Amino acid sequence: MTKLQSEAGLLPTEMFHFINGIEVESSDGARGELINPVDETVLASYSFGGVAEVDAAVSAARSEFDNGVWSSLSGYQRGCLINKLADLVERDADLIADMDAVCIGRVPMEPRILDLPNAIQTIRTSAGWADKIEGRTIPTPGYLGRATLSYTVNEPVGVVAAITPWNTPFMITCWKVAPLLAAGCTVVIKPSEETPMSALHLAKLAKEAGIPDGVVNVVTGSGSVIGNALVRHPSVDKITFTGSPAVGQHIQTEAAKDFKRVSLELGGKSPQVVFSDADQDEALAGCAMGIFFNQGQICAAGSRILVQRDIADEFAQKLADVASNIVVGNPQEEGVQMGPVCKKAQLDRVNYYIREGVAAGASLLAGGECPYEKGWFVRPTVFAAATNDMAIAQQEIFGPVATVIPFDDEQDAVEIANGTVYGLGATVWTSDVKRAHRMAKKIKAGAVGVNCWAPIDARLPWGGVKQSGSGRECGLSGVMAYTEEKVITVVTD
Ligand code: NAD
Repeated sequence: MTKLQSEAGLLPTEMFHFINGIEVESSDGARGELINPVDETVLASYSFGGVAEVDAAVSAARSEFDNGVWSSLSGYQRGCLINKLADLVERDADLIADMDAVCIGRVPMEPRILDLPNAIQTIRTSAGWADKIEGRTIPTPGYLGRATLSYTVNEPVGVVAAITPWNTPFMITCWKVAPLLAAGCTVVIKPSEETPMSALHLAKLAKEAGIPDGVVNVVTGSGSVIGNALVRHPSVDKITFTGSPAVGQHIQTEAAKDFKRVSLELGGKSPQVVFSDADQDEALAGCAMGIFFNQGQICAAGSRILVQRDIADEFAQKLADVASNIVVGNPQEEGVQMGPVCKKAQLDRVNYYIREGVAAGASLLAGGECPYEKGWFVRPTVFAAATNDMAIAQQEIFGPVATVIPFDDEQDAVEIANGTVYGLGATVWTSDVKRAHRMAKKIKAGAVGVNCWAPIDARLPWGGVKQSGSGRECGLSGVMAYTEEKVITVVTD
């Protein structure tokens, strides 16, 4: 295997699990391969673990949580170590961005300007929470005529299994790892098969920061073996999962067997609602970014673009012009704006839905199925005159495919916006402030942006309603998600 050189440095071509502070090979020596989405060559190899590696990692995390140095630290001390981790991530930010970009075929500038700054902000903000996890004192009538004091404490939930996807891997890993460290938990990370590189780097940086061995562990390999083993492991207290609704449902069912705590961040089919009173240029730029950023491989991608009927045709045509002008190619080359999708299964999925859209009678204004040669490329695609019952309007495609659906009035827009099983993000484009608030209230989603894409920020809670998931990451909610509230009552006289 040739060396993997990025502008920021050398990327690893051979990777191993990171368990209890050291790199380890799988007991059976099995290895997996990372395939370059650009040309389908092998980029790197990594340990492909099994139940034995899960057991070892969970045991390290358990022991550090129950009896280790980590559990003896104060919140302030944990916060200091987490801040050191932030410094190290900042030091290696470009290298980490390149790791993610290479693994999924993304233009490196995107993770450099979005994922890494957000991840660093998340780590620092979490460090700040570590010594501010407070309880409450609650007045009670007393016990058998004697006065009592009742108060709550929020204790760390324990050993967490963090199962992550490939689309923005480092950032999402930090959304889990930083707050759970702040809360005092330990973790076994199971990164996606496509993107183990940056999670392994994070674990090594945690060690370099002085976070004790066994607190941050990474086991690499398949979801069906490692993921399942983690979900079923009796020493895991909580599972935090980001990924597809199908796997999320499976995890919730399995976890229910022994009442494990579960947070789920799942898929979406997010609406972008454009009223004719909106600033059209702003709305167009926002909608294009909302669906084409990261090849549309974003959970909250604004894949359903609802446009008021009197401007729908013109708006769809302008969006198609934007799509046709996006430069698709090798993301490592100058001037390229969009790389391939992450894997062959993803390419097949996107092409399947493009064929579905054409068959259903939606009007294909830009893009369409790409002749398959080498590399998993998809052309940015725009369907117009679609209806909300079409597969392209209902199913999460997770690719650069926009479905433009006309609507008549506010009521119609709300019905279409809420007319899916999902409820992750939404945007509303209007110059009428009252309408903006009405729409934000009526749309069923975890986050609504008005005249902007619902921002991701370490201080803002993130998560979905309906089949987009349960629980919240980021913000104070994201830290409290890794605690259990205990109430203590003491007789005081
Ligand atoms: P996926 O569900 O296929 O895989 C996610 C993770 O789950 C991977 O690490 C995988 O190995 C693991 N996994 C697979 N089968 C498992 C099993 N049986 N038990 C335990 N773990 C298992 O999802 P993906 O293709 O990696 O990511 C795309 C999906 O993630 C999309 O649906 C997208 O919307 C969603 N996503 C959601 C958010 C959010 O914040 N809501 C963010 C990013 C991605």
